[in-house]
Amino acid sequence: MDGKRMYSLIEKMNFVRVSGTPEEAKVADILRAECAAFGLKAEIDEFTTQDGEVARTFLEVLEPYRKTYEAKAYRRSASLEATAEMEYAEDALPVNLLDAKGKIIYINTPVGKKNYEQLIKAEPACVIAGDGDMLDHLDEIDLQPGMLRPVFTDPFDKRLCVVTVRKRDLYEMIVKGASKARVEVESRDFENTSRNVTAFIPGTKRPEEIIAFTAHMDSTQFSHGCYDNAAGSAILMELARHYMLNPPERSLRFIWTGSEERGLLGSKHFVAANEDEVKKTRLCINCDLAGSPAGHEFAIVTGPKELTDHIDMLMKEEGYAVETRTDTYSSDCIPFADSGVPAVSIGRFGTPGMSYIHSRRDVIDYVCAPSLEKTGRIVLLFAERMNRAACLPFERKIPDDIRKKVDEYLSKKGV
Ligand SMILES: [Zn+2]
Repeated sequence: MDGKRMYSLIEKMNFVRVSGTPEEAKVADILRAECAAFGLKAEIDEFTTQDGEVARTFLEVLEPYRKTYEAKAYRRSASLEATAEMEYAEDALPVNLLDAKGKIIYINTPVGKKNYEQLIKAEPACVIAGDGDMLDHLDEIDLQPGMLRPVFTDPFDKRLCVVTVRKRDLYEMIVKGASKARVEVESRDFENTSRNVTAFIPGTKRPEEIIAFTAHMDSTQFSHGCYDNAAGSAILMELARHYMLNPPERSLRFIWTGSEERGLLGSKHFVAANEDEVKKTRLCINCDLAGSPAGHEFAIVTGPKELTDHIDMLMKEEGYAVETRTDTYSSDCIPFADSGVPAVSIGRFGTPGMSYIHSRRDVIDYVCAPSLEKTGRIVLLFAERMNRAACLPFERKIPDDIRKKVDEYLSKKGV
């Protein structure tokens, strides 16, 4: 595992790579070419996503003071032109929403699967949510509205209009008691194309048993996504290279996913489109977050407790301090676990305040080759152990308590 080579792949991927954009297509080409350079044939597997764009958002508070705020509507928001009374509806709990009908309400929380249903039932004209931090400098923060994902809008025949403002502006509205506003939103839904990059190395001894490796190659808006997750993509590439030189005993599937940041869409697509292969898949190893100079490694097992214990012992024996636990992890391991495949997410948590995700602060300056190499070695150690095991030391089964957590994750997050 060569940290410098991983770092140089991150340099090639060092641009914003959002789901369904030409930049996501570009990174897929880069990864495919990288595989080809060491003789591995990779394929680009396209899939359709439900996307949206917002042409225009206008927000002006009219009473008791007059001010136009910088605002951006959520993608797939309803379009709107309205002048209406405003009300501060705090956390958008049902009791906060009793008088929301027809009003422009402003709330403390983002709009998502958890509160969408109660918000739509309250029938506000528009919902204003905040983004960022009160202390952000204007030149350091981007307004980053979310998206109203089909999984939570589809059950309803109407769509909410949701607008994001900066938290400092939201705070001003609360303090000054904004009571009337004009909102104009022009929004359009469209179908988009995203893609995974996939490659397969057949096993020499137990080809009918498959180990899948996943890492997402996309980023969020404004983010170069170096720590999250060009780093994991580079670790996967290094593993693929290793196994081309050292043919594996079990078959290995490599998947660099697109649209993970839009609700695990790439891994969901793979699992749905490859049912027979997934039935033969005994384990998924997912790499998401790595390269941070300050931090520590983790291995989160979305699967049987025996696997967690096995990794814990293995890492101690080999002298690695790895935070190991049985839990869900918000990444491409989830669709595999949901299909009954035990999944382990291995990576490196950057120390808070010294690493960043999902913002313009996730840049290449905050990843380094030695950390990439260390996490890469840990992934290879475990992968190699599983590849060579005469008998895998765990069943292909998701225990009931973890199954329940996966179900909760999927319904809460709306993915
Ligand atoms: Zn990630």
